[in-house]
Amino acid sequence: MKELEKAIMERGTVLSDGVLKVDSFLNHQIDTQLMINVGKELANRFRDNQITKVLTIESSGIAPSFMAANELAVPLVFARKKKSLTMTNDVYTSSVYSFTKQETNEITVSKNFLSAEDRVLIIDDFLANGQAAIGLTKIVEQADATVAGIGIVIEKSFQDGSSKLKEAGYLVESLARIQSLKNGKVTFLSDPIL
Ligand code: 5GP
Repeated sequence: MKELEKAIMERGTVLSDGVLKVDSFLNHQIDTQLMINVGKELANRFRDNQITKVLTIESSGIAPSFMAANELAVPLVFARKKKSLTMTNDVYTSSVYSFTKQETNEITVSKNFLSAEDRVLIIDDFLANGQAAIGLTKIVEQADATVAGIGIVIEKSFQDGSSKLKEAGYLVESLARIQSLKNGKVTFLSDPIL
């Protein structure tokens, strides 16, 4: 998605060979117009997949997912990283190791919001080694629901999350695919020739 690639080039900061900072439009301050367009593009990529629910993980997944869910006219559910006092024990849980925070979170989703009939679109802000996305697929599986697709805003294609998810049979769509962050420079993977 060209508009997203442009934002990454102009407003992103390469922190190391492995980490991109985009807190001026996605991870801290949110560029709402860009996120609206990102959400619409994610929805377009999965429009024919009979999605009944969008599932993401708090907090950075929520902004892009909100518009995608709105476009698909389905509810958005976000997994919580800390169990809320108002949550009963009727929850699905999964352990997710965070690439950026280097800690493991037990993510939870109430059983009220996912059921066996659901066809779920998983969305996240970044795809690195796939831990967050795999954690979300485990939640969907616990509900006996179906993962209908995985939508990613920024995929770091030089890490193995994308290939892991595709090898596991999931349909993965990423709006920006980064080939390298070497030498402080962002290089995108060109779109495959159709
Ligand atoms: P994974 O679970 O695929 O290894 O990493 C994805 C998660 O880690 C995302 O939810 C995102 O919050 C965080 N993440 C991974 N790589 C980056 C990065 O380069 N920049 C930022 N801002 N977050 C990242």
